[in-house]
Amino acid sequence: MSLLVVGSVALDTLETPSGRADDAVGGAATYFAYAASFFTPVRMVGAIGDDFPAEVLSDLEGRGVDVSGVEKRAGTTLRWSGRYHEELNVRDTLHLDLGVFGDFQPSIPDSYRDSEYAFLANIDPALQARVLDQLEGPRLIGCDTMNHWIQESRSVLDGLLKRVDMLIVNDEEAELLTGDRNMVKAAAKILDSGPKSVLIKRGEYGVIDFSPGNVFAVPAYPLEEVRDPTGAGDCFAAGVMGELARSGDLSPAGLRRAIVYGSVMGSFVVEDFGPKRLQSLTREMIDERYRQFVALTDIPR
Ligand code: AMP
Repeated sequence: MSLLVVGSVALDTLETPSGRADDAVGGAATYFAYAASFFTPVRMVGAIGDDFPAEVLSDLEGRGVDVSGVEKRAGTTLRWSGRYHEELNVRDTLHLDLGVFGDFQPSIPDSYRDSEYAFLANIDPALQARVLDQLEGPRLIGCDTMNHWIQESRSVLDGLLKRVDMLIVNDEEAELLTGDRNMVKAAAKILDSGPKSVLIKRGEYGVIDFSPGNVFAVPAYPLEEVRDPTGAGDCFAAGVMGELARSGDLSPAGLRRAIVYGSVMGSFVVEDFGPKRLQSLTREMIDERYRQFVALTDIPR
């Protein structure tokens, strides 16, 4: 089933304790599209300037990503540069130039309007709502957000949350959204505010899914080296939404399987800079790591 993603497309300069990469392709929608394309056809909406490498769009197309919704405009692509601390969940933004993304107004092509699965990557909640207005009634809507929108656009975000099925946020965002440091309490408040499930990412501690009457936790995959954490959250969301779109199984078991696939995709992308690791990945490697996750969490009864 087709899976729509709307979000940023960028060129990133990344500095981590393992090294650096200049002008790496990035943006939430790009990471999501690369990762989700292993599961299902993807429809991508974003904006790029005339400096964006054409071969990246062809690469994505070759992977089953429909890029006709990526608007090419005169100007520059969003450019972001970030530096990670030794403690990899802390990063500083060194530079941000929104370029053509600054006045991005997502316009959903007619051919995308029947998308059954949609992921609203982290953009202004007013724009995320605008995307939903243009869809014919998706079966499942996933949504990300960030501190900035929680603080600056709270009422619009609250309205949006009533319309989404699955919120995917990190623990800091869940706390900011609810005022609760305790994730069980925070999740209960989020579920009261609209979404049917909330997936809380906890970096190297993994992820917890809260749905009414169902709690599921997956650890992060133990890696020897995390080279670049950029895009881990987007790839996690892509594995979850991609697998749900592929299987169509929205039962608790189907959701659990999807969350493990999300964890698999998040664990791969951080092994190299930008989306590089995803470009050399095969479906077999993904399934092999899924089996390793199963073994990792095989608790004897
Ligand atoms: P994540 O690691 O999931 O936070 O995603 C990182 C991606 O977000 C990078 O590839 C950046 O290009 C992109 N990004 C940085 N700043 C912004 C922004 N203000 N709006 C949208 N995307 C951004």
